[in-house]
Amino acid sequence: MNTVQVVATAGRTTSVDSASASHGAAELRIVQGACPHDCPDTCALKISVAAGRVVKVAGDPAHPPTHGALCTKVSRYAERTYHADRVLSPLKRVGPKGAGQFVAVGWDEALADIAARLQAIAARDPQAILPYSYAGTMGLLQGESMAARFFNRLGASALDRTICSSAGGDALAATYGGKLGMHLEDYAHSRLIIIWGSNSIASNLHFWTFAQQAKRAGAKLVCIDPRRSETADKCHSHLALRPGTDGALALALMQQLITHGWLDEDYISRHVDGFDALRDKALQWSPERAAEVCGLSAEQISTLAHDYAHTRPAAIRLNYGMQRVRGGGNAVRLIALLPCLTGAWRQQGGGLLLSASGWFKPHINAAALQRPELLAGRTRRVVNMSTIGDDLLREASPAFGPKIAALIVYNSNPVAVAPESPKVVAGFQREDLFTVVLEHFLTDTADHADYVLPATTQLEHRDVHTSYGHTYALDNHPAVPPLGQARPNTQIFRDLAAAMGFTEPCFSETDDELAAQALLGVDAAAMQRDGWARLPVPELPFADGGFATANGRVQVLVPGLGVPDFVPPYESQASAPDLAARYPLAMISPPARNFLNSSFVNVTSLRSIEGEPLLEIHPDDAAARGLVDGAMVAVFNDRGRYHCRCEVSTRARPGVVNGLGIWWRKLGVAGTNVNELTSQRLTDIGRAPTFYDCLVQVVADSAAVAPALAVPA
Ligand code: SF4
Repeated sequence: MNTVQVVATAGRTTSVDSASASHGAAELRIVQGACPHDCPDTCALKISVAAGRVVKVAGDPAHPPTHGALCTKVSRYAERTYHADRVLSPLKRVGPKGAGQFVAVGWDEALADIAARLQAIAARDPQAILPYSYAGTMGLLQGESMAARFFNRLGASALDRTICSSAGGDALAATYGGKLGMHLEDYAHSRLIIIWGSNSIASNLHFWTFAQQAKRAGAKLVCIDPRRSETADKCHSHLALRPGTDGALALALMQQLITHGWLDEDYISRHVDGFDALRDKALQWSPERAAEVCGLSAEQISTLAHDYAHTRPAAIRLNYGMQRVRGGGNAVRLIALLPCLTGAWRQQGGGLLLSASGWFKPHINAAALQRPELLAGRTRRVVNMSTIGDDLLREASPAFGPKIAALIVYNSNPVAVAPESPKVVAGFQREDLFTVVLEHFLTDTADHADYVLPATTQLEHRDVHTSYGHTYALDNHPAVPPLGQARPNTQIFRDLAAAMGFTEPCFSETDDELAAQALLGVDAAAMQRDGWARLPVPELPFADGGFATANGRVQVLVPGLGVPDFVPPYESQASAPDLAARYPLAMISPPARNFLNSSFVNVTSLRSIEGEPLLEIHPDDAAARGLVDGAMVAVFNDRGRYHCRCEVSTRARPGVVNGLGIWWRKLGVAGTNVNELTSQRLTDIGRAPTFYDCLVQVVADSAAVAPALAVPA
């Protein structure tokens, strides 16, 4: 029998398992952590450490929303941390830009040189310096805390962080007053769940667990997704609509609710502003009209409307895939109105969840973490991260401001993930651009750096986490010291601040001091005891209205946005027939199941499962092009040319191809990935990219050479 004894307290109690057979006589410490990745689930972790090395990363069974299960990706997190290719010392470029040729240098030399280069640029105009970061870690500390202080003090340009969710997020906030929704656990009580724009099995695993509970209790599951995903396979029905037509479908569902008298008039009258304008709009959308636009049958639409109106509780799990099109914001506004028309919010297990992050907003002490007062009254030019390709190539002008002269990249891999990568690459290859990248590995972006600074992984640093899929805050404690010369992002920005001569006391605060300030009104005793704490969110948050808008009512008519409507894609057969004549296939680029954005692509065991970059194409579209399953193909449009292998599969609907992402370019075929093809055009709301609004053509490409298949670790 194992004996467990408490041997130390270091912020979070650690334990020793003195009889661990698998680790011999070595003490086994269990350290409390949190998954840092861009995933709604934000799992609580139990990290096992023996002889100073992490030997296992597991889920915390006591954490209610994630209950001890991890996805395949993060269960391999130790493999990622101890990967032979980790960057473990500062690197200085010695070859051409983008060649990935570096020499190791000491921290003092790197910091002094970087500071000198930044000071010279800042002396001309600090706004020529741009931070570039996103959700490589979702932590409040290793994300935007010391980094934000540094850039505020410098007076650098600000980054508009739009690349993933701002279309849907801004749309939801316009409608409900915030990014607010159902409790994750309540899906277990639903009797109808519409999974809209989400491959939950791959990217929202713990929601799927609750959906499975509901299914076992008799619930019906409906998937709405252009792709027949692994999730669609396991739902009772699948509506494979054309990309970018979700708004038309939502309007037709409303038309059915209105014409059949299936509305909750009492809920509408008490909690919804502007319904009459919406009624007029929706009545124009018969199922037949929407069917034509969406590529569905009218019967599929009327059946879904009937089921949605007559099943209680009925829930929608909306995810961000469907908002990566021109009309993504309007579509989210329309879908978010559906549970308000039927009063679905009244029941446990009814309502909608796109993001829960708004519940955390009043609990995040952003002012303390980021210190906006360091700007000292200066205003900052704002650059949209989704148009970094164009903006790196832009000259100085009165409208744009100074040419971007320096880029500090952390928690992101824009050369792989930003749209229209031919332009992104050209920008990163500018010889007059000074680029510093904080990273774990030599990614496509790090290859273009003048300096690569070695960053710690989640197992090596402190952090505090919120979630966008549930309502629990989490703590993350370092399980092991930093590997090699790696440093936490917070420490790197502290060191850069010192090298720049910034003497404000806030640059001396430790990570523990930052953690102590990060959250407000969160149960500190629970955080200390369990490593996580539930926010005080009402059990049925909108059963009796109480939305976070100014008057507490759902808003249909939003100043500046008008009444929500269907906004057709930029690129489709219907909206751009001339373009479609040359590029007749719509392409979406959902994530490959074993990658998370561009993270984990270099983890050998996971890449081995994926094999190689794939394009799913329907048998009819393949036959029309003489393509056989497994053929190498070139996928192209006016923006670029992507090389990969095709999989002839009914996972793709006719007329739509699925380019699974996001491969590192250098691990793909001919140094390309799917973002060769995507566009920098922005969404209707939220200034976000339109990754899934993309017409292409596909041809056989017998000259392409597939990458060597990875060998399992
Ligand atoms: S990626 Fe998501 S499911 Fe996987 S461990 Fe992290 S939070 Fe959990």
